[in-house]
Formats: sequence, structure tokens, C-alpha cells
Amino acid sequence: MKVALLTLGCKVNQSELIDIETSLRGRGHINIVGLDGAPEICVINTCSVTAKSDYQSRQLIRRAAATGARVIVTGCYSELNPLAVKDMKGVSHVVSNNEKDSIINMITDEISSCTLDNQAALPRGARRSRYFLKIQDGCDYSCSYCIVWKARGRARSVRPDEVVRRVRRAVECGYKEVVLTGIHLGLYGREFDDSNLIRGAGAPCLSWLLEKILAETDVPRLRLSSLEINEVDGRLLDLLKGGRLARHLHLPLQSGDDRILKLMKRHYDSAGFIGKVNKMVKEIPSLGLGTDVIVGFPGEGEPEFKNTLSVLRELPFTYMHVFAYSPRPGTEAAHLSAAVESPIKKRRSGILRALAAEKKRSFIERLKGETLGVLIERGGEAGDCAGAGKGVCFGYRGVADNYVKVFIPAEYTRFSGGIADGSLVNAEIVGQKEGMAIGKPVILS
Ligand code: SF4
Repeated sequence: MKVALLTLGCKVNQSELIDIETSLRGRGHINIVGLDGAPEICVINTCSVTAKSDYQSRQLIRRAAATGARVIVTGCYSELNPLAVKDMKGVSHVVSNNEKDSIINMITDEISSCTLDNQAALPRGARRSRYFLKIQDGCDYSCSYCIVWKARGRARSVRPDEVVRRVRRAVECGYKEVVLTGIHLGLYGREFDDSNLIRGAGAPCLSWLLEKILAETDVPRLRLSSLEINEVDGRLLDLLKGGRLARHLHLPLQSGDDRILKLMKRHYDSAGFIGKVNKMVKEIPSLGLGTDVIVGFPGEGEPEFKNTLSVLRELPFTYMHVFAYSPRPGTEAAHLSAAVESPIKKRRSGILRALAAEKKRSFIERLKGETLGVLIERGGEAGDCAGAGKGVCFGYRGVADNYVKVFIPAEYTRFSGGIADGSLVNAEIVGQKEGMAIGKPVILS
């Protein structure tokens, strides 16, 4: 299969496509080509940092579609304009920024004889590591900066028995981890309350669904995508302690200033957020905790930014996604006054990104000596080694249950002759390099 991978925008976008390319090359049967190489699939990672970026993104999608290829679009432009992009000629999928890993599934599904609608055995070499399963769509909130709730409509959920069926299929196909995704995952099942879908089982909610999946399937590891802080309940915390639900939560904070949070129409205040997160971290050791933060929201002066900085310093986030605010047409926030100038947004983003890097580094440092379950995503290629440089080392990249990226040097795997992609191995964290933990496989007796 010939695949073209094209990106616009920042280094993050570029590195994401490099990751996708590395992963695809490791699976064989795929040629990476340019638009002039008669691609069958084009993946376009779009950008929306300026109006010009929006324009360039649309142009690139049109050029890709003109080749006759199926076009998969992701990145910030399609994130903000998913319906418009979906309607563009030739576009087959619009993939959310949080689900870019699923692009690997989409492409390899084309060459694998085991898809979720086909129970044939998965051929060796085509094994994927994580399956992204959408269980929910839409959102009933109306955050003032967000266009997604308008684009996606009211919250609605996939029926629980269908979710269980698809998780079982994913396990049969060899997946060791299923990631449950949705636009507003924490609203799962709310619309079932008054229906006859579930009888005598209590009010269905996300925790209820997780209990059901864990009881009725053999999925080795289940992971949640983004959740709102108010949707983390005691039942969920218990499940996070149980071993099969990955100890990882992504909880968007957006701002640490209460006035800005109100302007954003978020449903919590900073004190409530801090209290809940501290409780979680106390109860669940080595919890991986991610967040999203918007800098430069209208009205964010230095005092408001300092409040955000102070909350972020206090909370034990293990990684952070920092976004500079830009007004989106059709949102309430686009009409707010007191816009923040670009250089200020840039400076504040830089401060938060430096803090994020430091938090990640110290989290990995604290993990030294711990043994984590690592799902191998790709390996066996020289140069694919935690940024050590092409051809310098050789090893395996994976993701731990707490979402730390782990690199296992090949020299630690001689006892076993290597590790297959998609396998789960226990590895002791022995060091770190450039934002990745270094792991040493533990041989269990
Ligand atoms: S919770 Fe807010 S930010 Fe998230 S999709 Fe709904 S409206 Fe948008």
C-alpha cells in the first residue's frame, strides 16, 4: 500500500507524522510516497495557528484528494472544523488530535485480515498495539472557546453491549490495550437514564460501563481518554487501583484563574480542581496525570496568568498540553474584549512548556526502581531510540500504564531474543533520556 504523510505547522505536528511513519514502516507492506507517487491513502496533519494556516490546510487537502487517494485528516484545523473538513471531497476520516494514534489502526486495517468486523486471525507482523474505540459522541456543555459541541451535537453513547462486543473483538484480534474515546467521555450513558436499555443495573455511567467491560471481557488493559474533573468519582478511583484500568487520567484544567474559568464557562473552580487531584494522587501511586491549558484567553492579565502558573506548579501533572488561545468564529469567546497580544501568549506558552518538561522529568525520576507494565508499540529498528540519533542504538518503544513513554534498549532483551510489537512486558525504570523513561525488562518467575 502506498501512503503519503503530509504535515503543516509546528514541530509537534512534524514529529507526530514521523512517529506515524516509523510505526508504519515497522509493520511492512507500506510504501511511504509523496503526492506525486500515486498514493492510495494520504494522511494530512493540519494547522490552525493563523488564518493563513487554515487556508493552507484546505489547499493541501484538495491537492491530496486530487490524486484520487483516500484522505485522512487530523491536526488543529480539522479539530476545529471537523464537519467542514469531513465534507471536503476525498476526505474519508477526520481524526481528533487526541486520537492520532488511531491512524495507524486505520491504515493497517487495510492490510490486515483481522479487522473488528472480521474474526480471522491477525497475521504476525501486522499486529497493532492499541485499539481506539469510540464509545461516545457529542457534548452537552458549551465552553465559550469551543466549537466542537456545536459541531458534534448532543451527547450520545454507544450501547453497552456493543461496547463489550467490540472490546472482545479487539482482544481476539490481539490487542493488549483498548483506549475508550469520546468527545465528552464522562457523559457516557447519561441519556440511557430514562430508557429501557438497561434494567435493574443502576444508573449507567462511565464507571458502570468500565466495571461491565472488565467483568465481561479479558482485555488486559483499558485506558480512558480525556475526562472532566467533575466526572471522576470514587468508583472510578477504585477501578484505577485494580490493575487493568490504566493508572492514567487526562483532566483538562484550561486555566487556574477562577474569573477566567467562569468566562470559559467551565464547570469547576481552581480550589475544587486542586482538592480532587490531590486526593487522586494520594490514593493512586504513580498515577499518570495529564492536562490541557489555554494561555492568552481574553482578559488573562499577568495576575490571572500567575494564578494558572501557581496551580500548575502545585499540581503533580506528569505532562501538559499548552495551547495559545486564538478566537474561533462561532464561539462565544470570539466576542470577548481584552484580547491578549501574540508576543505575550508566546511568552506565557514558553513558561508553561518549560514547567511541563520539568514536571515530566521529575515524575520519571520518581519512577526509578518501579516496575511498570509496558505495551511495546514499535521496536527492532536502529535509530528508533529515544532521540539518540539514527543508527546509534537499537531497542523498543512502548507506553506504560501511567502513560509514560518507555524505551527498552535491545541490550536488555538479549535473554529473550527481542520483544514483539504489541506485547506487554514488565520493565523496571532505570533511567531517563529526553522525556522518555529507560526500562529494563523484568523476568517474572
Ligand atoms: S466539555 Fe467544553 S471543551 Fe469539551 S467538547 Fe464540551 S464544550 Fe467543548
